[in-house]
Amino acid sequence: MTYYCSECVMNWHPFQCTDGACPECRGGTRRSYEPASPDADARHRMAVAAAIKRDRHVRFEAYYAEREQRAEMARAS
Ligand SMILES: [Zn+2]
Repeated sequence: MTYYCSECVMNWHPFQCTDGACPECRGGTRRSYEPASPDADARHRMAVAAAIKRDRHVRFEAYYAEREQRAEMARAS
């Protein structure tokens, strides 16, 4: 059994879909009895890597936004 995403036209392995969400577009999937797409593993790895990168970027931005804000407040006082 696989999870099918009509947006990405992909059949994912169930373990690749957290809570049934497509790893690539995060949209919903539906159960399918077709085999997993041949590039499911490669695309899943890419989607995971992209998510990690995105998460790091968000944290990086948050870290500097806070630092800048603190510097701003120090200047104002
Ligand atoms: Zn998708």
